[in-house]
Amino acid sequence: MTAPTYDKLIAPTAGTRAVNQNGTWKFPDDPIVCMLRGDGIGADVNGVPGISAVAMKVLDAAVTKAYGGKKKLAWFDVHAGDAARNLYKPDVKDEQVATLSEEEQRKLYLPDDTLKAFEYYGLGLKGPLTTPIGGGFRSINVFLRFKFDLYSCVRPVRYYKGVDAPNRNANKVDMCIFRENTEDVYCGIEFKSGSDRAKKVVAFLREMGYGPDVLMDSAGIGIKPISPERSKRLIKMAIQFAIDKKLPSVTLCHKGNIMKFTEGAFKDWGYELAKAEFRDKIVTEDEVYKDFGGKAPAGKVVIKDRIADSMFQQIQLRPEDYSVIATPNLNGDYLSDAVAALTGGIGLAAGANIGDRAAMFEATHGTAPKYTGKNLANPGAVLLSGALLLEYLQWFEAAELVNKAVEKTFAESEEIAHSGPGKKLHVTYDIARQFPGYTDKDGATSSAFAERIIHHIG
Ligand code: NAP
Repeated sequence: MTAPTYDKLIAPTAGTRAVNQNGTWKFPDDPIVCMLRGDGIGADVNGVPGISAVAMKVLDAAVTKAYGGKKKLAWFDVHAGDAARNLYKPDVKDEQVATLSEEEQRKLYLPDDTLKAFEYYGLGLKGPLTTPIGGGFRSINVFLRFKFDLYSCVRPVRYYKGVDAPNRNANKVDMCIFRENTEDVYCGIEFKSGSDRAKKVVAFLREMGYGPDVLMDSAGIGIKPISPERSKRLIKMAIQFAIDKKLPSVTLCHKGNIMKFTEGAFKDWGYELAKAEFRDKIVTEDEVYKDFGGKAPAGKVVIKDRIADSMFQQIQLRPEDYSVIATPNLNGDYLSDAVAALTGGIGLAAGANIGDRAAMFEATHGTAPKYTGKNLANPGAVLLSGALLLEYLQWFEAAELVNKAVEKTFAESEEIAHSGPGKKLHVTYDIARQFPGYTDKDGATSSAFAERIIHHIG
C-alpha cells in the first residue's frame, strides 16, 4: 500500500508504520498511531490541555520507563468531530448542516484525510467526539466500525480500590466484554412507520403469514441480521483472549429463548466454534457437570451461556463468576455500560474497537461539554484505553506500569481522604467528591492527576 497524500494533514516525519498482512501484525518499536484528541474535554483549548493530551503524556512516560527509549509511540494527530469541522470547513453554519447530503455531512465530521490516515496506519487512539448535528450522518463511531470492519468492541471493566462503587460486590468485578459491532439492529435497516418502504415490508410479511395479531399495518420495522460468520469471528476473538490471558470462562450472553434464529443461533454458533477450533483448550459448562463432577479441569476455559435478562442480575449478584463475555451488538451496548457502572466512574470506562486489519482504542464517555477547557475531567478512560493499545502492541510491561500507577494513585487518595477532610487529593473531581467531607472542588486538575500517575510510574 502506498502512503496517502493529504489535503491538510502533514504526513508524520517520525515513527514507522505497523504492517498488517492478512490479519497478522508486525509491530515496529516506534509505531505510528493516529491520535484523535476529540472534542469538549478531549480537546486542548487555549493552551489548557484536554484529557487526551494528558493521557498521551502518561503513556509516553510509561513506555520510556519500561523500555528506556528503545520503544516509542509516534503520535499522528488526525481529526474528527467538531475539531475536523473547524479545521476543514469552518464556514459551514449549523443551520446549513441539515441541507448537506449524508456524504457531505460525513466529510464535515470525518474528513477523507482522517480515513486515509487510519486506513494506512491501522492503529488509533480516540478521545470523545461530539455527535454530529444535522440528522443525516448519524455517528462517527458507527461509521468507523463499519468502514474498517472493527467487528469487536472490547470493554474491560475492573474495580479500582479508592473508587466509590455503587455495588458492594464491585471489588469482585473483573470482566471483559466482547460486543459484536457490525450486525444486529445497528445495521440501520429500519423503515419508518407509515412509509412506503414500511408498508412494502408489512405486505411481504403478510404474504409470509404474519397477521395483524402480531404485526400492525402502521408498525415501524427494524431488521436484526445476525450471521454465523460474523458471530463466530467475534466469539473466536473472545475465546482466544481468554486463552491468552489464562482466564477461567467465556459466557455467551444472548436472548435466544425469544429470538431463536438470531440470538439463539449466536449461542449455538458460539459452542460450535469453540468445539471446532479450541477443543483441547475449552470445556463446556454442561461437560463440567456431566464429566468433571461440577469442577472445571485446570487450564481449560469454560464456555457457558446466559440469557441476557438473567445476565443483568448475575453481573450484580455473582460478578466473580464472569470473566470474558461475548454477546451480540445491542446486548453488548447495554451490558458494557451496566458493568462499568457497577465499578463506579464513567471517567474510567475504557474500550477498543478491533478488527482483523485495524484497531481503534477509545474512551467510552462523551465530551462532557461543561468541563471543556477547564483541565478538570478525569483522563482515566482515555489513559486506560491507551493501556489497551499498549497491550495490543504486546508492550505488556508499559501497560502494567500504567495500570499499577493508576491503582496506586486511587488507593493513595482514598487513604488521604479517609484520614479526614481538607487534605490535598491527587484524583480528579469526579473521584474526589465520592469521599465523605470532600466535594468537586477538592479534586486535582486533570494534569495534576496525570502527573501523580507519572510519579507512581517512577
Ligand atoms: P458525557 O459527555 O459522557 O457526560 C455526561 C456526564 O458524565 C458529565 O457531565 C460528567 O458528569 C460525566 N463524565 C463524562 N466524562 C467524564 C470524565 N472524563 N471525567 C469526569 N466525568 C465525566 O455524556 P453527554 O453529556 O450525554 O454527551 C455529551 C456529548 O458527547 C454529546 O455530543 C454526545 O453525543 C457525545 N458522546 C460521545 C461519545 C463518544 O465519542 N464515544 C460517547 C457518548 C457521548 P458530572 O456532570 O456529574 O460531573
